[in-house]
Amino acid sequence: MTQLSIKDELIDSLSLVRCDLCGSNHYTHLLADEISNIVRCNECDLIFYNPQPSEAALQSYYTSQSEDSYTTSMVDWYGQLTKERMEEDRGHLSLLENVYQQNNPYYHNDGKPIRFLEVGPGFGYMLYSAKQLKEWDVIGVELGKAQTDFARNSLNLNYINGDLEEATKSLEMNSFDIILMGHSLEHNLHPKRTVQFANRLLKLGGLLVIYVPNGGGFLGRHKLDKWEWRHFPGHLYYFSKQTLQMLLKDTGFQTERINSTACSSDYDYIKTEFCIDSDEVVMQIASLLGPLAVLGSLNIMARKITES
Ligand SMILES: [Zn+2]
Repeated sequence: MTQLSIKDELIDSLSLVRCDLCGSNHYTHLLADEISNIVRCNECDLIFYNPQPSEAALQSYYTSQSEDSYTTSMVDWYGQLTKERMEEDRGHLSLLENVYQQNNPYYHNDGKPIRFLEVGPGFGYMLYSAKQLKEWDVIGVELGKAQTDFARNSLNLNYINGDLEEATKSLEMNSFDIILMGHSLEHNLHPKRTVQFANRLLKLGGLLVIYVPNGGGFLGRHKLDKWEWRHFPGHLYYFSKQTLQMLLKDTGFQTERINSTACSSDYDYIKTEFCIDSDEVVMQIASLLGPLAVLGSLNIMARKITES
């Protein structure tokens, strides 16, 4: 399908939706984008695109994106699979392991490898590192066909091609220790349902790790028109610290850790707003602001404490 007809299919499929978090249909218009509008729910403050596309139109869009980005992503992948990158992954994975095990009343060391599922892993760098460096039992759930083929054939990774709802049908309930959704939750038409499926797959005490564009950060709040994360239909929801915690509480999770990390436009914003020239000082300010959850990427780790 051509890019033009994919856009037409998207436009034709648009319909108004209720807030995915609280079910309200009362919202305030924030910004008119090219095809849809960004709104804020009057009841719970969730920011999202409304109207939204149909599932079929969204699937066509991702299939086309997957094909288009295949070659460049492959080059990117080879560029990134370095020793340094894997060492960074090791640090990241060790942090997840520590948060999962510490102060976890349900955890006991049975000697089995950690069962780790990533939703939207792309070509699978992180899963590959988890398998090679930590010997974790890993699986990816990925919509992109090209990414799935590559991860299966070249990295010998266990992948399910589809969304988490489809994957849940073939996976054992209450069997995973850690599930990672790194900038994938905001792509879902129904993020609450996706988190409910994650709850079913995790063991009691299991850790859900979510990174999303921060709708409650400096730029999401004050510079929405110039925000780098504004992207339809790729990003349908913009969670803040409050709305993401509300979603997690509603679906059986307790927040363990919350912070934010800077994206490139955060540095520009800090420079301009605080009138600072020194890059070093800008970096220091960004590291101080991280725990306040005001930077571009919002990062949460939450423990499953009840069945969803
Ligand atoms: Zn709402």
